[in-house]
Amino acid sequence: MTAFWTEADFDDHEMVHFVHDPEIGLTAIIALHSTHLGPGGGGTRFWHYADPAGAMRDALRLSRGMSYKNAMAGLPMGGGKGVILAGSDRAKTPEMLAAYGRAIEMLGGRYVTAEDVGMSEADMQAIWRETDHVSGLPVEDGMAGGDPGPFTAYGIYLGIKAAVKHKLCKEGMAGIHVAIQGAGSVGGGVARLLAKDGAKLTIADVDAARAQALVGELGAATVVPAEEIMTTACDVFSPCALGAILDEQSIAALDCAVVAGGANNQLARTGHGALLAERAILYAPDYVINAGGIIDVALEYLGRRASAAHSAAEVNERIEQIPGRLEAIWRESEESGLSPDVVADRMAEKLIGRG
Ligand code: NAD
Repeated sequence: MTAFWTEADFDDHEMVHFVHDPEIGLTAIIALHSTHLGPGGGGTRFWHYADPAGAMRDALRLSRGMSYKNAMAGLPMGGGKGVILAGSDRAKTPEMLAAYGRAIEMLGGRYVTAEDVGMSEADMQAIWRETDHVSGLPVEDGMAGGDPGPFTAYGIYLGIKAAVKHKLCKEGMAGIHVAIQGAGSVGGGVARLLAKDGAKLTIADVDAARAQALVGELGAATVVPAEEIMTTACDVFSPCALGAILDEQSIAALDCAVVAGGANNQLARTGHGALLAERAILYAPDYVINAGGIIDVALEYLGRRASAAHSAAEVNERIEQIPGRLEAIWRESEESGLSPDVVADRMAEKLIGRG
């Protein structure tokens, strides 16, 4: 068996905590990449892994990503990630969530969790019974927290507008053609905001009915089959579904001037950012443009800890700084000749004291 600290994804993580309770049926990994800027914040993923090594890889890779995302969002939070290894029946019990909550509590606030794939608001409430170090709990309207999707979408919408201004020298979105991959919480939110500005929208989802329902709601938009969205001729391709979609083949087939969307880990490998640059396609680094949701849940947590709740308006003010960050990355990229993803990584590494 390979030791996890010799894994390619190990990046001097501060701590990797293994939780195992066979009686309760809980096996989990909590990885803390960096607490340089504050407690390691990042959601918990509940997933059935065919190979447990995949769970370790996810915990290592995703916690590092959270360090970079939180740093670039200007949050006083480090990066962490929890992974619960679901059984093949994917059973999730209250006892399991309680034991997981106690494991987080044992870390004394060094790790703060929230929802990720497979975890709901109700799950966060169950964990909260055992520990305060949780976010993504129900909140009152107008306050920070709650469903991060609309906040993520708002940041992406602003990032797309900034990219269009930077690359195409256009101030508004009227008539700008945006192809959106994924009609879910984030893709749907981005589409609604862009539609109000008069953008021309093409939308695809593997769940064709979902794409159709969104287009029905928007009035003027076009649906294409999921396999066509990445080759649609457009101004902006906005990936809002899965990660690792940008590789040699798909980049060669893109017909757009800008890639700017919400999906995490869009580049299959780091070098793929340079391929986009070679094709003169402007890339908005994913963890910078999609930080609206983490800003929302981080302010929820920080406000609760300080007994001074933040408002949704404060969350939006911080999200409105995303275009400025992207602009700084693009300028630095043009000056240095490095692709925007590499520039963003270097900026984040400096912020977490590793540059
Ligand atoms: P979601 O589950 O609400 O929506 C995703 C949609 O993508 C679904 O409708 C799904 O059917 C569709 N889809 C999956 N594979 C597809 C494919 N190959 N082609 C077209 N459509 C496909 O999820 P979401 O919350 O909207 O998140 C979307 C992406 O944004 C994910 O990568 C997520 O990790 C990332 N993200 C989300 C948030 C948030 O606040 N929700 C924050 C940061 C990043």
